[in-house]
Amino acid sequence: MYSIAIDGPAGAGKSTIAKTIAKKLEFIYVDTGAMYRAMALYFIRHEIDPKDEEAINKACPDIHVSINYEDGVQQVLLNGENVNGLIRTEEVGNMASKTSAYKMVRATLLDLQRDLAKTANILMDGRDIGTTILPNAEVKIFLTASAKTRASRRYLELTEKGEACDMDEILKDIVDRDERDMNRAVSPLKKAEDAVLVDSSEMGIDEVVESILSVYRKRVNG
Ligand code: C5P
Repeated sequence: MYSIAIDGPAGAGKSTIAKTIAKKLEFIYVDTGAMYRAMALYFIRHEIDPKDEEAINKACPDIHVSINYEDGVQQVLLNGENVNGLIRTEEVGNMASKTSAYKMVRATLLDLQRDLAKTANILMDGRDIGTTILPNAEVKIFLTASAKTRASRRYLELTEKGEACDMDEILKDIVDRDERDMNRAVSPLKKAEDAVLVDSSEMGIDEVVESILSVYRKRVNG
């Protein structure tokens, strides 16, 4: 069984790259951010203040996140309800970014994430996969890009969808998320010592995919 861990900050292109590679290698793609987003949706629905750790801790035992696959696409279930269509909003992303800092929230998802790697070849993306979730992954990648590059990619994505947005606000949001992810006490975002750093600021998608595949081939073929 092989595991590939791809970690990195928001907007580095992890999910696009991870999906492409998983398809090429016929690995199962596991998007862990979606699991934090499902928990965030629960907190929003129950009007729980993200600053209130006690309330968050009290809610955690009532939250059951699981995943399954429909036509190869990961579906996230929150207490049995498929919430895939509800977790991609800015509101949910912001709540996830804040509440993922809590120990209880991370502990709620730990076994689910670790157990998935026991059942199949998987490619998992997130923030702490190489450092905490799958420390023995065969391949670890830390995928990053400058905050400015990530902000302009996000800007393009939103304007293509026809959504009104402001470049300065997007950049600020990205910097704030980086700050929270990198400075939290539990499982902060950081490059695992044995992870390969890939900076995609000046690279296209195909180039990034190829560079990660070549790391994988070297590992597997020795
Ligand atoms: O990657 P995505 O933007 O969907 O993740 C949502 C939030 O969940 C991130 O802002 C991050 O704070 C958190 N997260 C995390 N650990 C992971 C995956 C996501 O803390 N493994």
